[in-house]
Amino acid sequence: MTTRERVRTTHALILRRRDVHDADRLLTVLTPRDGKQELLAKGARKTMSRKAGHLELFTHAALVVAQGRTWDIVTEAQTIESFRHLRQELHAIGAASYVCELVDCFSESDDDNQPVWDLALAVLRELDAAAQQPAETVPPNLLRWFDLQLLSLAGFQPQLFACVACETALEPALNFVSLAAGGVFCPRCAAHRDDVEPLDADTLKVLRFMQSHPWPEVSRVNVRPPILRRVESLLQRYLIIVLERHLKSADFLRRLQHLAPSTTTPPPAPATPS
Ligand SMILES: [Zn+2]
Repeated sequence: MTTRERVRTTHALILRRRDVHDADRLLTVLTPRDGKQELLAKGARKTMSRKAGHLELFTHAALVVAQGRTWDIVTEAQTIESFRHLRQELHAIGAASYVCELVDCFSESDDDNQPVWDLALAVLRELDAAAQQPAETVPPNLLRWFDLQLLSLAGFQPQLFACVACETALEPALNFVSLAAGGVFCPRCAAHRDDVEPLDADTLKVLRFMQSHPWPEVSRVNVRPPILRRVESLLQRYLIIVLERHLKSADFLRRLQHLAPSTTTPPPAPATPS
């Protein structure tokens, strides 16, 4: 732990909340300079609480935080970006929950990580803008682009351009991927391994493009659904290996794919879809 000011101000993204004591909430937030923090919002569950509205899930708020004994305490909160559309529609809730869960998993406390902060905010802005459209869909490439960018920032960037073993540039042909090794092998090197699976040239091309280009360019690429599904499958399995756990929100999103494209009734919580 670094030594702290007794009172400090910070921007924060509300990633997670849980009820504690009679009327309090414990918030898990991402901050740009101090990484992930657990903060106590006293009285936040009271109906008259002035702070509560500024501390909703997925909200970007400016906070005044006082040093506390067990947890530091939120003394003032002001909404900067409410992202309110992310709380109104099932697919948007699912996608925003996924972004927050993954950021939560990959963030440490007291870790200055402005790039992760910038990435999380950028993705939530895209999701919120999309949720305001009549079609209310999550932009198709967005979460996969987010996966790859976050993996890179967290130091788990999959190696997609040169063979993991011999380091020669990969040809745009059939190659082989090892999720355990975190990258792609050329056919020659893959012949000696039993932990690889085939990776077709189209899927590799999409993965590489998403890894190495900014969102405005990735958003304009029309990826065929079967290829996007292969990209998703690879990245989800890779994330499970890296994190050594399943993502609740990813399971929720997968179940949503079997529902109608839109519904206007928000569910009680992402973990308990109807
Ligand atoms: Zn090789």
